[in-house]
Amino acid sequence: MAIKVLSDEEMRVQKGFIEKMRSFATGKMYHIFTMGCQLNENESEKLAGMASEMGYSFTDQPETADLVIFNTCCIRENAEDKILGQLGYFKALKRTKTDMVLALCGCMAQEPHMVEKFHKTHGQHLDLIFGTHNLYRFPELLYEAVTTQKKQEDIWEMDGTLAEDIPIKRDSSLKASVTIMYGCNNFCSYCIVPYVRGRERSREPEKILEEIRGLAKDGYKEITLLGQNVNSYGKDLANPMSFAELLKEICKVDGIFRIRFMSPHPKDFSDELIDVIATEEKVTKCIHLPLQSGSTNVLKSMNRKYTKEQYLALVDKMRVKIPNVTFTTDIIVGFPGETEEDFLDTMDVVRRVRYDSAFTFVYSRRVGTVADKMENQIEEEVKKERIGRLIELVNSILEEQNEKFVGTIQKVLVEGRSKTNPEMLTGRIESGKVINFSGGDDLIGKVIDLKITEQRKWYLTGVLA
Ligand code: SF4
Repeated sequence: MAIKVLSDEEMRVQKGFIEKMRSFATGKMYHIFTMGCQLNENESEKLAGMASEMGYSFTDQPETADLVIFNTCCIRENAEDKILGQLGYFKALKRTKTDMVLALCGCMAQEPHMVEKFHKTHGQHLDLIFGTHNLYRFPELLYEAVTTQKKQEDIWEMDGTLAEDIPIKRDSSLKASVTIMYGCNNFCSYCIVPYVRGRERSREPEKILEEIRGLAKDGYKEITLLGQNVNSYGKDLANPMSFAELLKEICKVDGIFRIRFMSPHPKDFSDELIDVIATEEKVTKCIHLPLQSGSTNVLKSMNRKYTKEQYLALVDKMRVKIPNVTFTTDIIVGFPGETEEDFLDTMDVVRRVRYDSAFTFVYSRRVGTVADKMENQIEEEVKKERIGRLIELVNSILEEQNEKFVGTIQKVLVEGRSKTNPEMLTGRIESGKVINFSGGDDLIGKVIDLKITEQRKWYLTGVLA
């Protein structure tokens, strides 16, 4: 599929609408509700960037905002209930604050059944709805909604476009996310992403590097590269480039201390990539390696394209080649047809890999996916009982994994004061674990050595080494 990178002219048109919006937005406030993954968070930073350039200021009190944006996610069923509840609340609020503008975007806007639900319920109070492929048109759509007082709905089914140079307002001044590719080609049978985000589209490496060089110049120290399937990056480029090659180029950017990436797919984890992780100091040695299930049968019906044995062999290979490698993962419990034996396979993999942390989910049916049509759905009670056992196991391993760090010296980027205990400074060790310690504000933004003194399950404590 030919990827169309939007022309400078198209982006200039949107800049024109940003200018035009200034007379309406200056002095007004915006708030964004962000659901779901880091990709959505990154897109919310772009929405915030556009809103700020229009003249809006951020408020953390959504009720007082003049513009409220719901950046939605459809990966789990409870997100639907949540958004419908929120829309109901803001519908009531809009009765007294009639000039409040409500906008909805993100993955749910790409689901026809959800858009229909919005039309039938509180969605009549939405001033604009736009999808994942045309986020860059937000200034134009907002301008039309504000000036014509007519609802704007612009949802594209096509997914062959890439927009560069959208203004961005980042949440942190030290750590930044950079989306390197959009969409996914994998069609795991439980996942809605390929339907709402389209096929894989990789950004040109020059554009990614330009963005990261700019971030380094602005003092950013840690970069997280984002994509639904980052290690299949670059296959669709006119001049194909592997994710490993891209990582090597990014490592050459001065000033960047650590590079993380999210999420790779086990089936696309090449030896070349393992070598780059092993040899490049800046690349994290904490690998997020989604397992989803430890049962080969379930993996097959999930369309994951690897077996239990292949997954474990990949972990072993990485352990040999990457000193001090650690793993985190995602696991789904209660996928259609999962037997007790299948579930025990998952528990077996968890025991063997000994993850530093695991995001555990109960399988959630998603309209439009293959798994939703499977007849052998698992009873809620069984799912609940299994996830309980899994979480217990994951947590018991977590403390043991934390214990390994006690007494070691770790390099930490000092991020600021801890939100839960402002007496302490906070940062993350390489594996991503939070560490709290005492120190002065002069350390914020620096990379320092800390000696780990204690593990407290969800975080570590340390002292200056
Ligand atoms: S790799 Fe599978 S789970 Fe991940 S986004 Fe693609 S289809 Fe969804």
